[in-house]
Amino acid sequence: MTSSKNTLLPTGRCTLVGAGPGDPELLTLKALKAIQAATVLLVDDLVSDEIVAFARPGARIVHVGKRGGCKSTPQEFIEKLMVMAVREGENVVRLKGGDPFVFGRGGEEVEHLQAAGIAVQVINGITAGLAAVTSLGVPLTHRQHAHGVVFVTGHTKPGTDSEKTGTDWRALADTAFKAKLTLVIYMGISGAERIERELLTGLPADTPVAVIQNASLPTQRHIATTLGTLANAIHDAGMTSPSIIVVGDVVAGVALAAVPPGEVRRTA
Ligand code: SAH
Repeated sequence: MTSSKNTLLPTGRCTLVGAGPGDPELLTLKALKAIQAATVLLVDDLVSDEIVAFARPGARIVHVGKRGGCKSTPQEFIEKLMVMAVREGENVVRLKGGDPFVFGRGGEEVEHLQAAGIAVQVINGITAGLAAVTSLGVPLTHRQHAHGVVFVTGHTKPGTDSEKTGTDWRALADTAFKAKLTLVIYMGISGAERIERELLTGLPADTPVAVIQNASLPTQRHIATTLGTLANAIHDAGMTSPSIIVVGDVVAGVALAAVPPGEVRRTA
């Protein structure tokens, strides 16, 4: 007996697709084609409805974020669902906000699928940090002010000793100052107070900071502030998730263009 049970099963396929920051026009052509070809789509919270609307009629759409009903779908469940659908012969697209491999747990999903013997294709999306900074008309790097850029998470796992296990802000501040780096902080709103306190150990209080909420969407807005007043500015303006915090001289000019809290800023 040489044939295994699995060879009798229909084989589907799985693609991790980056949906970009929200604006459907920022999708890649490759992403659009994959979405249109999918028979099953597992969709993250931050993916906009206009993008999901590109799915073909009759495609099964499963929202696996908070909009799916529960607080958020456990990662293991999403991974199981992907494997099951592929084994049923479906063309599965896992649609993720921004880029699947930037703070998206895309790596874990690829590992799980590969362990189940399923080949995965990954399609890049424009990551939120990139879109957020560009929408302000400023570059991430600059020959005079910024020699590089760090994409970093401001989120620490609940219940852990964040001072020990989270991002090492002090080391980062020191390096950013010495090496002239722009810091692009994802998931930083709830931890802003700590980020401010610890970055101040290595960066001056007047370091320019911009916070951009809902980048690339019609509801986008931003504030411009300095590192020394970051947490207060976020609080006063009512900036909430999803937001990107950008720290560095590249956002120095943004102060002039600051949008008052609540004002809607449309991107072209
Ligand atoms: N894979 C995604 C990031 C997922 S982590 C990417 O590459 O963009 C979720 C975080 O991304 C949010 O907390 C927020 O910091 C950021 N984010 C995602 N979409 C955003 C948007 N439209 N505007 C601002 N920040 C966004």
